[in-house]
Amino acid sequence: MVEKKCYWCENDATSMEHVPPKCLFPEDKDVKNIFNKTFREHLITVPSCDEHNMQKSNLDEYLMVTLSGKVGNNGLAYVQTLTKIERSRKRNIKLLDIEKSDVIKVNNKELPVLWINVENQKLNHSFESIARGLYYHENNKSFKGKITVVSEIFYHPDDPNGTEFNIRGSKLIESERKHWNTEVKGVNKEVFSYQFSPIDGFKTQTLALNFFEGIDVYIILNELTDEEIEDAKSKLSFFSKVLFGDLQLKYER
Ligand SMILES: [Zn+2]
Repeated sequence: MVEKKCYWCENDATSMEHVPPKCLFPEDKDVKNIFNKTFREHLITVPSCDEHNMQKSNLDEYLMVTLSGKVGNNGLAYVQTLTKIERSRKRNIKLLDIEKSDVIKVNNKELPVLWINVENQKLNHSFESIARGLYYHENNKSFKGKITVVSEIFYHPDDPNGTEFNIRGSKLIESERKHWNTEVKGVNKEVFSYQFSPIDGFKTQTLALNFFEGIDVYIILNELTDEEIEDAKSKLSFFSKVLFGDLQLKYER
């Protein structure tokens, strides 16, 4: 551990961090007799300092509970919701801001659903951490540029600009993604998979994350300097305008 540097800040690493957090992957005792397989083998780890270890900052559990509980995920996420998340909530009643409980029907079985007030900032930090971890894993160095997280899960009625940015950005990236021609990676794709785009002429690369075969999160990694961004704005394609243009400026203000 002595010589390893943190995947985020390059200070001395004190531990290994799972990317994404290990708690997203169901435990054998909850799922093995249902799905007849284990989901915890060959997980990705990167060296980390204390500050950038999601487990140590307790962000990992919030991420797990938020993602697993979303409607539209696969069956594995439901089992995770019924088992592990119930245990987490019993341990920490304040973990989730629950708006209301509900029940939905799948194949005539009633499944409990929780509507959660998502704390965007916590989630944003978690996704940035995962992106930096995967970048380190792939490139063996930490990422130095700017990061923008885009996902439709960041819907919020009090922030129409942010919501619009996330919805429009997601749709554009989704259609661009068909042309990436890069490998979709992940040993346990029912839980998590990821795909890096090629790097474009604006030193920008997009990373697609998928959780429980239902939730897409995109992370835009760009290494342009501020001057290069100004210069780039004059030569933009429609797609890049969304990333550097008015919509993003509105969102950052
Ligand atoms: Zn660090």
